[in-house]
Amino acid sequence: METYNSFKITQQQLREAAKVLNLDQSTIDLLSWPQKEFKYTLPVKMDDGKIKIFHAYRIQYNHARGPAKGGIRFHPEETVDTIRALAAWMTWKTAVVDLPLGGGKGGIKCNPKEMSKRELENLSREYIRAIATHIGIDRDIPAPDVYTNPQTMAWMMDEYETLTNKHQPGVFTDKPEQVGGTEGRRDATARGGVITVREACKTYGYDPTKDYAIQGFGNAGQRAALLHQEILGGGNLIAVSDSKAAIFNKNGFDAKELVKYKLTTGSVYNFPGGESIDHNDLLELKVEVLYPAALENAITKENAGKIKAKVICELANGPTTPEADIILQEKGIHLIPDILASAGGVTVSYFEVVQDSYSYFWSEEQVHQRLDQKLTKAYHSVQEAINDKKVHPRLGAMVVGVARVAQACKLRGWV
Ligand code: NAD
Repeated sequence: METYNSFKITQQQLREAAKVLNLDQSTIDLLSWPQKEFKYTLPVKMDDGKIKIFHAYRIQYNHARGPAKGGIRFHPEETVDTIRALAAWMTWKTAVVDLPLGGGKGGIKCNPKEMSKRELENLSREYIRAIATHIGIDRDIPAPDVYTNPQTMAWMMDEYETLTNKHQPGVFTDKPEQVGGTEGRRDATARGGVITVREACKTYGYDPTKDYAIQGFGNAGQRAALLHQEILGGGNLIAVSDSKAAIFNKNGFDAKELVKYKLTTGSVYNFPGGESIDHNDLLELKVEVLYPAALENAITKENAGKIKAKVICELANGPTTPEADIILQEKGIHLIPDILASAGGVTVSYFEVVQDSYSYFWSEEQVHQRLDQKLTKAYHSVQEAINDKKVHPRLGAMVVGVARVAQACKLRGWV
């Protein structure tokens, strides 16, 4: 199977948007690369007393619209190019939802599943000691991503505050609520995605009460399973997968029980009533809505032609390759692209920074309502661009995001 370089994909997506927007060459050259990249070699004391070396990155892709913003991933297959790609997508994503932020991303090449809690804490703190001078509420604001969580953020924030001798919780988002986190963050990404599905159903007549499937049953996938039914008033969850297993039940799973089971056992494997299926088959099921919520490059030119979903809501970052985008468009599938569909997380993270900055916190209802306003508006701006420019959905979203970033670069006199 072909291997995909996500960063080359983001560069290609940018060139396509630049062509539609008629951007000049210096703007294209500026936006094709990160503005700042940091690479670290981290020595960490492990439980057996030995020192292990980890390779880590922080990339600030573009800060024309505000401080860089983006998660930190712990993953064994992390490379500088996956981080560059994720940082680029964050830049377009914050612009699509019109937040006063830029885009960034960080990552550490490690296997958290083989590390103890203490080793993960040591690694998190060592990473912050390395990057501390380059982050800050007015420079770069990290958050969790794959295999990192609010606990990771609490350790990182604590290390940062110790180093700077200041209380400044807003430098990290998605923290536990007891240390400056916001209401409504845990389900924000999925909530944002489901809001965009709601708008698609209202506008184009899809029926959310029919079948849906979820690839990747982590934070985003589990919340989508529940919120799909809560916000859209029904729906039959017929298949889910995680890295260990993919399961199917044509009558639908009890989403609450399935989430409970996953949280207790660590996997959806062997969930009672679930028939085991091939991971790839899940993506090709006949469903009304498909949520890719795992990793990059799940939908490629090899399988795009076989996808039968009517709506694809990309909660994962970069789950579809550019060739697959064209195939999905030709098939008339309503794709809600990642930089729109998964923007709920960063939107509520932004709300968290705002609340931390004046130490006054909103109710969960206020967070939900403001998130809904942002995502609904962004969904319709993207639809407008798709219709005006006659482009496929990802290109429509890119056109909205890239235009805003390019404009900020121009106003600053960079290009
Ligand atoms: P997570 O680590 O909680 O969950 C990822 C899930 O995907 C895990 O259950 C894992 O087992 C599963 N998985 C991994 N490889 C798989 C495969 N090949 N097939 C099926 N499942 C597989 O991460 P998350 O926070 O839920 O993030 C998921 C995706 O959503 C990522 O692409 C992430 O960048 C994106 N995203 C997350 C947020 C957020 O707020 N959590 C925000 C925006 C985007």
